[in-house]
Amino acid sequence: MTIVLSTLNARYAHASLGLRYLLANMGELQAQTRLQEFVIGTRTADLAEKLLAAKPSIIGFGVYIWNVEETAKLVALLKRVAPEVVIVLGGPEVSYEAQQQEIVRLADYVITGWGDLTFADLCRQILNGPKPLMKIHAGVQPPLDELTLPYSLYSDEDIAHRTLYVEASRGCPFKCEFCLSSLDKTAWPFDLERFLAELETLYARGARLFKFVDRTFNLNVKTSLRILQFFLDKLDAAPHDPVFAHFEVVPDHLPDALKEAIARFPDGALQFEIGIQSFNPEVQALVSRKQNNDKAADNIRWLCTHSRAHLHVDLIAGLPGEDMASFARGFDKLVALGPHEIQFGILKRLRGTPIIRHTQSYQLTFDPHPPYAILATDRISFADMQRLVRFARYWDLVANSGRFAHTLPHLLRDTPFANFLAFSDWMYGKTDATHRIALDRLAGLVTQWLCMQGMDKGQAERLLAGDYAGKAPSSMPSKPALPQRQARHLAA
Ligand code: SF4
Repeated sequence: MTIVLSTLNARYAHASLGLRYLLANMGELQAQTRLQEFVIGTRTADLAEKLLAAKPSIIGFGVYIWNVEETAKLVALLKRVAPEVVIVLGGPEVSYEAQQQEIVRLADYVITGWGDLTFADLCRQILNGPKPLMKIHAGVQPPLDELTLPYSLYSDEDIAHRTLYVEASRGCPFKCEFCLSSLDKTAWPFDLERFLAELETLYARGARLFKFVDRTFNLNVKTSLRILQFFLDKLDAAPHDPVFAHFEVVPDHLPDALKEAIARFPDGALQFEIGIQSFNPEVQALVSRKQNNDKAADNIRWLCTHSRAHLHVDLIAGLPGEDMASFARGFDKLVALGPHEIQFGILKRLRGTPIIRHTQSYQLTFDPHPPYAILATDRISFADMQRLVRFARYWDLVANSGRFAHTLPHLLRDTPFANFLAFSDWMYGKTDATHRIALDRLAGLVTQWLCMQGMDKGQAERLLAGDYAGKAPSSMPSKPALPQRQARHLAA
């Protein structure tokens, strides 16, 4: 009576925290439950063969926006070759609008919301009876103290080769309408001592790369300080074997105590993902995002100048009320603040999010297929949205990659958005591609563009030659493997 917990991760490096929670909380069924993770892009029949090799009675799939299409094909195939295997789905993609989805029609059961305890309960009913009558089960949301923490389930191989996801809290008290976390309405903390003890054990086992999935790490400053101190202590004790931690933070809440702790981190140890999403107050009001723009800008500036944290700042294009000009102003404002990377996202209609209330008024047109990206609004045409999508891709290749750090200011000059958009339009005209552009060719195209803008060919070639290698110097710590892009930004 084997139970398999499975999912298709976006990359091998992403170890599923969700599945490990389910496994940790299987109770008496844990011994007969196994974890089988795959990576998207694997042949469906091969996945089915591997899953069925364990002769499972039940397979539980974690379904996310990045794997729903492939998981649906897999479930369809499993139902043809092994209809007796009970398929249970869970995860954010099937937690809302479940009845409208083909994958739900194909499956036997669905758990919406938190599955940590409900999956095990459902398995008990399936295996021991009475058979559950309902197809869709609302996940029970227990106090966090009642959950068994899953960190011991990270294998030695996970610790050596994959990003370890950890969470000190769940949920978010903010209500940004484009975000699934807006439905939480609050954040729940895990017991801090218990959580830190788990981090300590992971560290002792060799873990050095920690990615916090907390939606707002800096909500509770006391807790944030304790966690930062944990990492500072490790860095003090073993500076030649450094740890690396990634946190998502809200930008307008950085009290002095937190700043002091952040400023003590050395290069390459700390990374912040900061959601700005839009600097436009009207757009923020429309999507119920509360943000003090001045404070947020001050804090990003402070982080850029007084800390050695690596900063990823998120902007979203295609929000209701945003046009090209207002987006451009926000983008330019952000470039001027100087974060290492600007994550330029395109609005997506995540299932269950309240953003749809603006669909009529702002003529929001979304792709009906995952990842449900916006195609046009009343203010941004489909053609312009396509230009923004390409801009985002080239921005990632040229700016975020850190490969062209000295060249980039010459591409952006005094109007970064307009200049990079012109470059992006030209790039697409030249290549008819946004992917599979070899680095040599990319460097050649950047040189050509700079010359077309009036730069002397020799100067352009010298700039590119200086950047192009873009490698971290040999003094960079080799263990843990510092994320490559961060290493290049540090080397610049
Ligand atoms: S965007 Fe960030 S702050 Fe807003 S609801 Fe989502 S997680 Fe919370």
